[in-house]
Amino acid sequence: MLSHVTPELRNWSGTYQFTAREVIAARTIGDVRRAVAAGGRVRAIGTRHSFNDLADNGATLVSVTGIAPDPVIDAAAHTVTVGAGTSYGTLAAWLQDRGWALGNLGSLPHISIAGATATGTHGSGSGNRVLSAAVAGMEYVAADGELRHADRSTPGFDGMVVGLGAFGIVVRVTLDIERSYLVRQDAYIGLAWDRALADLGAIMDAAYSVSLFTDWSGESLRAAWVKRRMEGTSADAASDSETPEEFFGARRDPGPVRFIDAPADNLTVVGVAGPWSERLPHFRLDSTPSNGDEIQSEYFVDRRHGPAALAAIRRLSAGITPLLMVSEIRSIARDELWLSGSYGRETLAIHITRRNRPGEVVAVLWDVEKALEPFAYRPHWGKVSHVTAGQVAERYPRLGDARALFERLDPDGRFSGDRLERLGVR
Ligand SMILES: Cc1cc2nc3c(=O)[nH]c(=O)nc-3n(C[C@H](O)[C@H](O)[C@H](O)COP(=O)(O)OP(=O)(O)OC[C@H]3O[C@@H](n4cnc5c(N)ncnc54)[C@H](O)[C@@H]3O)c2cc1C
Repeated sequence: MLSHVTPELRNWSGTYQFTAREVIAARTIGDVRRAVAAGGRVRAIGTRHSFNDLADNGATLVSVTGIAPDPVIDAAAHTVTVGAGTSYGTLAAWLQDRGWALGNLGSLPHISIAGATATGTHGSGSGNRVLSAAVAGMEYVAADGELRHADRSTPGFDGMVVGLGAFGIVVRVTLDIERSYLVRQDAYIGLAWDRALADLGAIMDAAYSVSLFTDWSGESLRAAWVKRRMEGTSADAASDSETPEEFFGARRDPGPVRFIDAPADNLTVVGVAGPWSERLPHFRLDSTPSNGDEIQSEYFVDRRHGPAALAAIRRLSAGITPLLMVSEIRSIARDELWLSGSYGRETLAIHITRRNRPGEVVAVLWDVEKALEPFAYRPHWGKVSHVTAGQVAERYPRLGDARALFERLDPDGRFSGDRLERLGVR
């Protein structure tokens, strides 16, 4: 177990400086148990890809990313159990080598499973729920330092999965898996805004995963990134001849495409079918993702309000576009996880990556949030927003149940933090 006092611990993008005084890099579950048993405030930290103070606590942080993944497949149950600090990319490659797959992935494969699932991280696809919905079970170190197990039969499990680190330190997770499959992704250029707003539902439903990229200016979006799930497991089985050249009036761009502000060779391959593990994320596991000097925000609205919400942001384009790196629009299927951004509603996710100019960004954020207020948006837990405790209480119908659960599992608030308390989660 490595423990060090850190003068300057920052998040992945460098835009948030932690106030925690100590970081414990656990190598074993025993290390985590000892760290918790030592007393005081402790909080789990993942790969630090969040953009706000969610993971911080001003005291001790414990990382489980150094614990060996040791994945174990249960073929009969269609699950894999793996170290919670493992990155999605590492697990995805391991599963693919054995003919298995996850149902979906986020845009970046470098993020830890525990951190992603704890915040309701999602990919895209009208039929795909947040990544957390694949969590079938977990082992966690509880407030008394004991190792505990929870699964779908455990009362309150739906409140634990998007758990925001609020009840313990998750050390192993069990995820649903399925047989491996192929995905082919294609980029389409020139999707007109009028068409996008008129046919939004059909566009988002048109493939296994659809992402729309825009800088909000002009009459067309920058690109639609369409990921089609193919039958069969060999590239030969996935015929190119059936790939449409047109997508709602947009034309296929054979590439190389560069519609995210990152070098094209950081992006997963377009135009050729390949394993799900190498097509569902936007960024390649073996390269450095987008430049990092950025601030991300994301808002979840009921899909029925999608066109109106997009139109509202578009009206702000003169202020937003100059500060923007890119915006991505995705759809997410509804789920029943208490603190998920998609709890109880089919969801449209509106993501905004801005340049790292905090003062100006804050001003624009207020405008965006004001424009989205009529749609009762829920912000991504791991990204920047001005959300208040009142808004959280109003928009998460199971918040009271979640708070009661966290209080029962951690009566002394050992796993709490300022953000959780400010937002009324603890
Ligand atoms: C380039 C980039 C791309 C992204 N793409 C997407 C995307 O496609 N979709 C999306 O929804 N989000 C996306 N995100 C956001 C990201 O998925 C979330 O912020 C996620 O929480 C980060 O995981 P992490 O491991 O870095 O967790 P951290 O930021 O380190 O921690 C986040 C939370 O998880 C908790 N946590 C971490 N580990 C544990 C554990 N072992 N036990 C209990 N709780 C734990 C922490 O306490 C904290 O509350 C992206 C972020 C970046 C920087």
